[in-house]
Amino acid sequence: MPLAKLQFDTTKCAACEAVSCLVGCQYMDFRDTDEAKKEWQKVIDNQDSTVLRSCTTCYACEEYCPFGNHPFYLIVERQEEKGILPAPRPIITMWINQCQPVGKFIVGKVEERALSYCFLPHLYALVKGKLFDGIAWSGIFGQEFFCNAVYLHYARASIIKDRLPMVVENIKNQGIKELVCLHDECYGTFTSLASAYGIDVPFRPVHYYEYLCDRLRELKDVIKPLNIRAAYQRNCSARLCPQTDHYVDDIFGLLGVERIKRRYDQENALCCAEVFRMAKGPAFADDVQRRNLEDMVEYGAEYCVFNCPACWDALADKASDRGIEPIHMIDLCKLAIGEEQGLRLSESGAEV
Ligand code: SF4
Ligand code: SF4
Repeated sequence: MPLAKLQFDTTKCAACEAVSCLVGCQYMDFRDTDEAKKEWQKVIDNQDSTVLRSCTTCYACEEYCPFGNHPFYLIVERQEEKGILPAPRPIITMWINQCQPVGKFIVGKVEERALSYCFLPHLYALVKGKLFDGIAWSGIFGQEFFCNAVYLHYARASIIKDRLPMVVENIKNQGIKELVCLHDECYGTFTSLASAYGIDVPFRPVHYYEYLCDRLRELKDVIKPLNIRAAYQRNCSARLCPQTDHYVDDIFGLLGVERIKRRYDQENALCCAEVFRMAKGPAFADDVQRRNLEDMVEYGAEYCVFNCPACWDALADKASDRGIEPIHMIDLCKLAIGEEQGLRLSESGAEV
């Protein structure tokens, strides 16, 4: 079967004066829009461009493009066509092999509404208690349900195009009508990546923040307001579904948490930087993490709230070293209803 083709509209770029995709980039200095336009045209024309070599794969330009024109997906396609690797080859090969569908997966007592644990064992530690009454066992986990968005970090759009239609089919075959995605990498895949490649999704993806909001409203009588100030660590895949960011404020509002206004939140968020540690060098990654964490300290964060388990692994210990309590969003909700935290700090990071 021919691989799905990226739906990218060059006429939108021709009419776009602001070139927000590159001008907004936090890792390249494109404040000069003429220069940005010139470089972006090279990407469109499939010529070599500094953009293809300097991109950290933070996903943010997907959010910066006001026309939904998928600039980052185009960058990934061009990197792959030109063999420009944003990570060392052995790491890419390891990911490709490790996540290959092998016909073995875990399916719970799946009903029409199910949870996607994707391929992230961290999530088993988090999904417990009242918040997940009645749904925790209706879950799917494994390579066959793995969203594959991670290959955006590795210049392997071809793997996504090859595996995603099968993943969607596997989910459909479980009879699932609504899939609550416990990671927004999955939600972003089903709502953004799939449509960018014209792949039909025959079930409703539900972001787990939407699910948490609904559950917290049902549990409002047992919530004890936390009255804390928290920094939010916005992760790369949140850029694929920026329309869900309001749920952070909604959940914080329900829990009595103040989302501190700081330099590196919302559109200016810095990713956890771990994914490009090897490709861009430890000094570069350390600097991004240091700026992010110092920003949280400067703006008076007591807690750092995580969405993504990979951000947790990269930053939880480091936040704790600076006197900021790291906590996953699901655990924050549990804290407010008097339940135990699932992810804990350890010498090596997350303990599940
Ligand atoms: S990808 Fe979007 S932001 Fe970038 S030049 Fe094209 S239309 Fe403009
Ligand atoms: S993915 Fe991030 S680093 Fe790469 S061009 Fe887009 S905004 Fe810049």
